[in-house]
Amino acid sequence: MFAELDQLESEVSDARRSNRRRRCGTGQDGEDGSGADQRERLERLRNRRTQLDQYLQRLEEQSFGDFLSTHSDTDFSLRSVSDSVTYELVGSGFELATSDPLDRDIQVALSESHPGAAYLHSDNETYVVTEFVEDSYETSQVRDAVADQSICPTCGSTHDVEANDCEGCGTELKRLRTVVPSRVRAFKHDLPVETLANGDSLTPDSIYRADDQEIQSAYAPVDREVVGFTPNDKRSFAIVDGDGNQLGTFAHGSVRIRATADQFYASYKNGGSDPLPTIFERCGVGSCDGFVGHSGDQSYCLRDPQHDVDDSVAVRLAAEFETEGVRVQLDREELEHTLAHGLRVALQYIGGVGMRKVPETIEEDGTYVYDADEGGSGVTVLLSDGAGKPDGNFQQALEIMSKTFDCDCDGGCPFCLYQFGCTERNDPNSFDKAELSGLLTDGLQLVPHEEV
Ligand SMILES: [Zn+2]
Ligand SMILES: [Zn+2]
Ligand SMILES: [Zn+2]
Ligand SMILES: [Zn+2]
Repeated sequence: MFAELDQLESEVSDARRSNRRRRCGTGQDGEDGSGADQRERLERLRNRRTQLDQYLQRLEEQSFGDFLSTHSDTDFSLRSVSDSVTYELVGSGFELATSDPLDRDIQVALSESHPGAAYLHSDNETYVVTEFVEDSYETSQVRDAVADQSICPTCGSTHDVEANDCEGCGTELKRLRTVVPSRVRAFKHDLPVETLANGDSLTPDSIYRADDQEIQSAYAPVDREVVGFTPNDKRSFAIVDGDGNQLGTFAHGSVRIRATADQFYASYKNGGSDPLPTIFERCGVGSCDGFVGHSGDQSYCLRDPQHDVDDSVAVRLAAEFETEGVRVQLDREELEHTLAHGLRVALQYIGGVGMRKVPETIEEDGTYVYDADEGGSGVTVLLSDGAGKPDGNFQQALEIMSKTFDCDCDGGCPFCLYQFGCTERNDPNSFDKAELSGLLTDGLQLVPHEEV
């Protein structure tokens, strides 16, 4: 799988290079046959790469989940019911395709069980989520804490709740309603929900923008932020330079994360993909759980096509969960961010996990690197083992960082600093590689607060 990814990467860059050469040579964009072919090939390769990436992500989550259930000393019995989302697959003849409902951790569920999510089930059929039931208690808790916003149904951008039209594309905005899901229902993609007046069938895959393509996969970007942090005093330290001057603080503790998602991108079996996201649009009739699909220029509720969807509502999925992580506080965000990337790299060696298992988020009170798994997976805590000692894990992390960041580039590049899952999309202005490298050479270290 990794070999195939590498191969695709180099083919993509070859295709891009030859595209560029051709453009320079002719001095124009060129709509000739070979150019169009090249672009189509590039598009196909990119889609394939995205699919492989998503597949790898699922594999990674699965094996680590299995590992956790047998080895973790975290007390999972404390979890409440709403920590997971149940989903049901409904197949031909509206029979359940699985004997038992399936469960997903809630933070995974946002990216995999959102409206429009597509599953390839073991019967080799694709199932599409078009209904879900909300957890009314959790929903009311989270809704109190999340600012009201509006969303553009055309381009997916979010706006202040007072705005009427999208600044980008002029479309009338819809109010976003925050919801915590507890149960979702996915239907076989081509199940005829209803026969329409023109004789066509209304099917679950009408939730997607493309009318005549079969869905391959749908991807919902998830935003995560830290909404609470309780440092463990025994694992809190001062960050000092070689002369013993305090530069900031480093602490491990419990972190509360809020994750939200409000749109998805679809890609299709023919290799095409939607250029624009699709928002989660739910039927506005009473407490109907159905989402809205489209056939021609008509919109229908996919649970009950008789429902009038003129008052459909846009939904933002939300979930909160507790985990563990480290918070780094330094006087500049760029320095914090660069150190966070260094810690994530180091955790691959020290904790033996992939980058996706230790996400980062930059907040007002510091930059966090945390265990992606609910309850904490005991990975980020390793950084504070033996802190203040020359053979401690933090010192080892700094050595790994020095080696990784030792690169000829100026402000960071894919070989040293850039990372998967960067909240700043690897914006060079969000880093300060030179300053961190200086501090690393200078003897940066952790010491107990009372020794500063
Ligand atoms: Zn717009
Ligand atoms: Zn409805
Ligand atoms: Zn570099
Ligand atoms: Zn980053």
